[in-house]
Amino acid sequence: MYRCELCNVVQPPRTRCHKVVTETRPAEYPSRPKAQSRRVGRKGKALDDPGGAGYEIAKEVLACPKCAQEFLAKQAEAEAAGIYGQDAPASL
Ligand SMILES: [Zn+2]
Repeated sequence: MYRCELCNVVQPPRTRCHKVVTETRPAEYPSRPKAQSRRVGRKGKALDDPGGAGYEIAKEVLACPKCAQEFLAKQAEAEAAGIYGQDAPASL
């Protein structure tokens, strides 16, 4: 039993819960020299962590299966509209 954070309704027992990412933020991590240690034979060796950039989760909600499906469909639609809305006028 849990309360769906999208529709705010308590779900019956044994209903599967879905974690839905509602917000992301860009993240950048610097490289860290000699941050990871690994064994090579009997000796330990310090390896560099290359770091990197991407997106990390900023907000996540618990959702019932129905809400999760709806939300993901809506999100995909908005993403497609955003991508095609920006690219279509420039390419055509
Ligand atoms: Zn719901």
